[in-house]
Amino acid sequence: MIFENNLAFAQSLDRQDPLHHLRADFLFPKQHGTPFIYMCGNSLGLQPRAARSYVDQQLNNWENLAVEGWFEGETPWMYYHKELKGLMAHIVGAGPREVCPMNTLTVNLHLLMVSFYRPTATRFKIIMEAGAFPSDQYAVESQVRFHGYDPKDAIIEVAPRVGEATLQTADILAAIADNSEQLALVLFGGINYFTGQWFDMPAITKAGHHAGAVVGFDLAHAAGNVPLKLHDWDIDFACWCSYKYQNAGPGGISGIFVHEKHFSDKSSDRFAGWWGYQEQQRFKMEKGFIAEAGADGWQVSCTQVIPMALYHASLKTFEKAGFIGPLREKSLRLTAYLYYLISEVNKTLGFEQYKIITPSAENERGAQLSIIAKYKGKEVFQALVANNILGDWREPDVIRLSPVPLYNSFEDVFLTAERMLTISKELITPKQ
Ligand SMILES: *Cc1c(COP(=O)(O)O)cnc(C)c1O
Repeated sequence: MIFENNLAFAQSLDRQDPLHHLRADFLFPKQHGTPFIYMCGNSLGLQPRAARSYVDQQLNNWENLAVEGWFEGETPWMYYHKELKGLMAHIVGAGPREVCPMNTLTVNLHLLMVSFYRPTATRFKIIMEAGAFPSDQYAVESQVRFHGYDPKDAIIEVAPRVGEATLQTADILAAIADNSEQLALVLFGGINYFTGQWFDMPAITKAGHHAGAVVGFDLAHAAGNVPLKLHDWDIDFACWCSYKYQNAGPGGISGIFVHEKHFSDKSSDRFAGWWGYQEQQRFKMEKGFIAEAGADGWQVSCTQVIPMALYHASLKTFEKAGFIGPLREKSLRLTAYLYYLISEVNKTLGFEQYKIITPSAENERGAQLSIIAKYKGKEVFQALVANNILGDWREPDVIRLSPVPLYNSFEDVFLTAERMLTISKELITPKQ
């Protein structure tokens, strides 16, 4: 599509956008009474308008049924996770039995590594991306130490080439092949939180399996953002948080995926708890753990009903949109528009003030653009916030902006770039 750098054009794209009305289903934060242009869905998605009533429903059940709420009411808590599983399966491209909402993300990463990182004296290495989200780095280092290995020996990080910001798929695949004899696990982010790069998940999975390793993904920045086919891509396990692109609220419940091919593996270790026990026998309270079939068997503690209610409300907005297909179509266009407008800003300024490090290729990115602000980055970012544009800042010099197809408009994108230009003109002269 040929884009134009003017408000009327942006508004005409909004009029043609079949998902534009969904914006009204979300609540926007305000500054001095004016709603922010919210570009921060990569960090915390907006509150769905319906979230409150989903929570109220469960508060009412608690009020009216109390302990009987576990088995009574229109959505007994004992089975409430099943209401979500079908919807979650759509988001990540899995069968409903392969997914389950539980815990929080880093906790699930640990639990899944207990099952899927099973090092031996010869195979104990883990390959991951350099610059992975810190929580993942800490989790992996501590898992390695827990098994008696030194992270320096056991963790292989694939880094960008000198002078580049993102990874080349060829380098990832080569690192996997080069270490194939000692490799236990390939653990990658789906999309890197800092650069916004979407990795070639099917290729990485195939290479990992070819090397004889298990392959897992942290989908914090990918789930609800890009189309995923976890089952068909033959990924072994994955986990994600629900509060970024999936709008389930701060600290929202996480989701896990376990490929069904692992369901019958009786040798697999897990850190068990009563909620992973066979559902129909759970309340016999017997000695000796027997796992419930499917991903549900990885549950540990009793269902977190209120966080699940929030996730339920948000998943329903995805259902209303027609799930990821239509959302991705709009997302590609929204982000391409932002990409175009930022290059227009540079053109007008006459120098490259903003360097986008997120790959431009559609199959290598999601909604987010990570933008290095060459001069006065932090000041530019703060001025954007003062001018009602809420993105986020990552040290040392990156502004992350994420137009989200559920609630952002083409007008939002236009106004963001327009204010970037005005602010840059005010703050920066080319000599600086
Ligand atoms: C956001 C994010 C997390 C956060 O983990 P929590 O356990 O939910 O706090 C972890 N990993 C990645 C890759 C993330 O992007």
